[in-house]
Amino acid sequence: MSDYKFFAQVNKAFDIAAKYSEYDQGLLDQIKICNNIYHVTFPLERDDGSIEVIHGWRVEHSHHKLPTKGGIRFSTTVNEDETMALAALMTYKCAVVDVPFGGAKGGIKIDKSRFSDSEIERITRRYAYELIKKDFLGPGSDVPAPDYGTGAREMGWILDTYRQLKSDINAEACVTGKPIPQGGVRGRTEATGRGVYFGVREACKNKEDMEDLGLELGLEGKTFVIQGLGNVGYHTAQNLIKGGAIMVGVAEIEGSIYDSEGIDLERLMEYRQDTGSILGFGDTKELESNTAVLEAECDILIPAALENQINEENAANVKAKIIGEAANGPTTAKAHDILKEKGALIIPDNYLNAGGVTVSYFEWLKNLSHVRFGRMEKRFEESSYRKILNVIENISDRKFSEAEMGVLAQGADERDLVDSGLEETMINSYNELNELRKTHDIDLRTAAFLSAINKVGIMYNQMGIFP
Ligand code: NAD
Repeated sequence: MSDYKFFAQVNKAFDIAAKYSEYDQGLLDQIKICNNIYHVTFPLERDDGSIEVIHGWRVEHSHHKLPTKGGIRFSTTVNEDETMALAALMTYKCAVVDVPFGGAKGGIKIDKSRFSDSEIERITRRYAYELIKKDFLGPGSDVPAPDYGTGAREMGWILDTYRQLKSDINAEACVTGKPIPQGGVRGRTEATGRGVYFGVREACKNKEDMEDLGLELGLEGKTFVIQGLGNVGYHTAQNLIKGGAIMVGVAEIEGSIYDSEGIDLERLMEYRQDTGSILGFGDTKELESNTAVLEAECDILIPAALENQINEENAANVKAKIIGEAANGPTTAKAHDILKEKGALIIPDNYLNAGGVTVSYFEWLKNLSHVRFGRMEKRFEESSYRKILNVIENISDRKFSEAEMGVLAQGADERDLVDSGLEETMINSYNELNELRKTHDIDLRTAAFLSAINKVGIMYNQMGIFP
């Protein structure tokens, strides 16, 4: 829908939650506005020598904490309104999961499939250069990350561009989601999907909610449908399946498929790689459109593609009892009300997909400290555990085999520590939101916005206003 106003949708949810806060309208307006909006245009010389003008944006929503943080999106849907909405969601998301950044977002309006790799590299580098010139990129000012249509490769180009222009000992912290050799952190690629899994698993552990929804306790055996098998969608599906859930439906750009017996994710990925499509895979049934599967029979629906996917037109037909918003803004405000009326549990985007920014925060910390997580303590931990196990052996008849020793005395490496920090964050934040939900008798989305408003508001109140 071309007249879709994403920023207004975000602000609608903000206004509902603001009624439960104690702040006056002036402060609420201060929280809501975007602090800096930069629309950049530049020419690209195409491989065939022709010239094309490229439009990009970077929006810093809130400077209550610095740096600001948020992904960069390459898509034909990118515009100023979308970037403002996504930047605002980043502020609220960071506050919900206690990641000490203001929110930002960037985007370039392109159809990636029209450009060669070398053209994409030139677009990425020129965009980064323009941001650096205006102080919209740097370890202490504004730190991008991957989003829809971008990944580690683009982040690596951004870091290299920054390095060409600045001699900064903390250069690696200017962008996250980088390849590991360039200062990336283990576990970042899968972090958003893994965080979605932790959040959905936590929701399924709530006895009262599961009883209200008429579902069994726990994730095991629950069926789910996923829209989008990109970075977030694929890793979410992989983790949910490992956690015992059954994938019964998938939507991708080319269409949607369903099989109540379950769909093998890895085989489906291989099939799509070979044929370019998910259609015709195994015994799955092909549905009439790529949105049809959103209305299919399942316990959990995971939109993991783009905004405005569950809207007034299809919300009433959604059968899932749990909606896990892996994408940003997949449910419109009206659709949210319709789903709520039907009794569904909506786990909101500004909590559920916060795993990416949480692990980006860990990557930024790693870059600033210039040392890999676990490097200092891993061996020390292992020798301490071995000493404890030796004492146990001495006071009992039990002798541990070397294999057992290896497992029991293992020290934490970077991946373990990142995963532990992510799990802790997602569990704590869910419980915090649940408490707010109970206290005010509100839904989880309103609780997430209220939590964010409270945290950002305190900062603004304490800081005062310059000059
Ligand atoms: P991605 O580009 O890796 O994957 C998106 C996938 O969605 C692609 O496979 C694409 O083909 C598919 N898709 C696009 N339109 C579709 C449609 N109409 N129906 C079905 N499938 C469709 O992007 P991503 O990084 O996985 O991001 C997905 C969503 O998650 C976005 O809303 C993004 O803002 C959000 N998000 C991403 C991250 C991250 O770390 N990458 C973090 C937080 C939130």
